[in-house]
Amino acid sequence: MPVARVYSPEPRFFDLGEDYGDAVRAAEFPQALLRFRNDRAAAEVGLETLTGPEWIDHFGRFAPLPGQPGPVAMRYHGHQFRTYNPDLGDGRGFLAAQMRDAGGRLVDLGTKGSGRTPWSRGADGRLTLKGGVREVLAAEMLQRLGVPTSRALSLIETGEALERGDEPSPTRSAVLVRLSHSHIRFGTFQRAAYLGRKDQLEILLEHARSLYHPHVAPGDAAGFLAEVVDASARLAARWIAAGFVHGVLNTDNLNVTGESFDYGPWRFLPHYEPGFTAAYFDQFGLYAFARQPEAVFWALTQLGGALKPIDDADALTSALNGFGPAYIRHLRAAFLERLGVLSLGEAADQRLLDAALALLREGGAALRWEPLFHDWFAGFASSARALSGPRAKLYQGETFDAFRFALFEHEPDRPERLEASRFARAEPEELLIDEVEAIWAAIDSGDDWAPFEAKIARIRAD
Ligand code: AMP
Ligand code: MG
Repeated sequence: MPVARVYSPEPRFFDLGEDYGDAVRAAEFPQALLRFRNDRAAAEVGLETLTGPEWIDHFGRFAPLPGQPGPVAMRYHGHQFRTYNPDLGDGRGFLAAQMRDAGGRLVDLGTKGSGRTPWSRGADGRLTLKGGVREVLAAEMLQRLGVPTSRALSLIETGEALERGDEPSPTRSAVLVRLSHSHIRFGTFQRAAYLGRKDQLEILLEHARSLYHPHVAPGDAAGFLAEVVDASARLAARWIAAGFVHGVLNTDNLNVTGESFDYGPWRFLPHYEPGFTAAYFDQFGLYAFARQPEAVFWALTQLGGALKPIDDADALTSALNGFGPAYIRHLRAAFLERLGVLSLGEAADQRLLDAALALLREGGAALRWEPLFHDWFAGFASSARALSGPRAKLYQGETFDAFRFALFEHEPDRPERLEASRFARAEPEELLIDEVEAIWAAIDSGDDWAPFEAKIARIRAD
C-alpha cells in the first residue's frame, strides 16, 4: 500500500528556489538491501504503510514521494573547528521531502550517502555502512534518553566498496534517510551574510520564523535568535544529562530548532570525564564533553553575527545573553527528568544537580554515567534497590549523603514508572564504544545483524 491517509506533504524549502538549494539526482547504486526500517518514526508521517518494494524505491532509489518535487542539495557555509568554510553544502546528502508529522511539525526527510552533488568537493558522496549503523544507534539512544533528536528512518546497504583513509578499507556502503525537524543550519544564514545578501537573510528569516518559531513577530531577527538560543541551550543541557558527546559541533551541524542531528564520531561517556573527546581529529578537545555548551554558544554568536545586517546589534546581543541562564535552567530540568523527580524550586533543584555531578565526579571510573540515573530513578522509591544493587559500595560517604539528601527532598514524578521491566535489571541499557564496535564487528565479519537488531529492541524496551 502506498502512503497512509495522514501523510501530508508540504515541501516548503523547495519553494525558496535555486539560491538556497540545487536540484540533484541520487546515485544509482548496485544494490538496495534494507537493513533498518523505522516504522515507529514512519507512522508519525504516514509512511509506515509503504510496501517493502515501495520503501526501497523511495529510500534506496529516491523516487519522489507523492507531492514532493524531487531532491535538493541544500546550500550552506559554516565554521568548522572555528575556521570559516564557504565551500560547504550538502555534499553527500539532500533534502528528499518535507511533510507535517502527527504533532503538526514540519519535518524533513534528509539523506546521507545518496551520491555526489555540486558541493561534494571531490569526495565520493557516499556513507559507510558503519557510519549508517552508528547514526541509527545514536538516534535511537538519544531519543530514549530524552534528547531532542532526528530519527533514522531508513538504512539501506548499497553494495559499493568505499575507500576511507581512517577506516579499514574497502568498506561497505549505505544510504541513510533521517527524519529531522529542520535542516536549516546556523551556516545557512552565515552563507547569506557572507555573500552580502540582505535579501536572502530576510527571506531565510521569514521562512524559518514562520515555520519553526511562528510566535516570533515577522521581521524580528533578535526575537528569532532568542528562540534559537533557548532551544540550543536546551539541547546542550540534554546532551550533558545524557552523557553524550556529539563530536562535531560545527555551525553546519546545528539547526534552528535545537534538534540534534548528523551523528558522526559521537560517543557516550563511560563515566564523568569533562575532557572526554569523541572525534580523533579534534586534537585540542574543542568539542569535548564539558565544552559542548560553550561550543554551542560560540556557534550561536556566529548566527547572531550573520543576522546583524537585518537587526539591531544590541537586541541580538541581548538575545545571546540569554544562553547562560537558559542553559542552567534546562540542565536542572534535564537532571530532574533523568532522576525521575519533580521540581522543588530553583535552589533545591540546583542542590540536586550539584550533588549529582559531585557524586559522578567522585565516583570516577567505578561509577559509570548511566547507572546513577538507573539506580536512583524516582529517588527514595529506589533506595532499597540501589543499596542492594551492584553499585551499593559506591553509595556511601559524605558526597553520597549530600546527593541522597538532595534527592529525597524531591518528590518522585510518576513513580509507577519503576514497574517498567528495565528496572528489574541490575544494569541499564548503555551504548558505550566497545558495544558499538562489537555490533559492527558482527555485521562486518559475518553479516550478522542480530546484535544490531537486538540492541535496538533493548533500547526501545519498556
Ligand atoms: P559533516 O562533518 O559530516 O557534517 O560534513 C561536513 C561537510 O563535508 C558537508 O558539507 C558534507 O556534505 C561534506 N562531506 C562529508 N563527507 C562527504 C563525502 N563522503 N562526500 C561528499 N561530501 C562529504
Ligand atoms: Mg554535517
